Amino acid sequence: MSASNCLKDDCLFCRIIKGEIPSTLVYQDDCTYAFRDINPQAPTHILVIPKNHIDSCADISEENSEWVAGCFVSIAKIAASEGLEKGFRVISNSGEDAGQTVKHLHFHILAGTKMDEGLI
Ligand code: AMP
Ligand code: ZN
Repeated sequence: MSASNCLKDDCLFCRIIKGEIPSTLVYQDDCTYAFRDINPQAPTHILVIPKNHIDSCADISEENSEWVAGCFVSIAKIAASEGLEKGFRVISNSGEDAGQTVKHLHFHILAGTKMDEGLI
């Protein structure tokens, strides 16, 4: 990871990265922090976040896309280490209509159950 990171004092997920708020760590590297969702919606529910504050998918740019690419490399590693061979779903809510509640870019990994087609 070449780009320097910026974490915000008033952001829940930045504070989790800094260790100020406890979390159940699944995986981390220079770019990514991944931890168990506190309110799981599937048997496996992991949040993958960049170690740099980005509000949402709407704020991804050429300048910060390295962080996003790093998250997806981590997602593949986590899927392998968690044994998700039967499949998994990756979701990122962006903005009010999508129901984003924490304004730090995050990717939900959901797995361990047969998910219906619903919205997607
Ligand atoms: P979203 O609604 O897409 O913004 O997702 C935010 C997610 O963060 C929700 O699934 C919450 O359950 C989860 N969450 C909120 N606070 C924590 C926390 N302290 N530790 C782990 N997950 C959390
Ligand atoms: Zn943040």
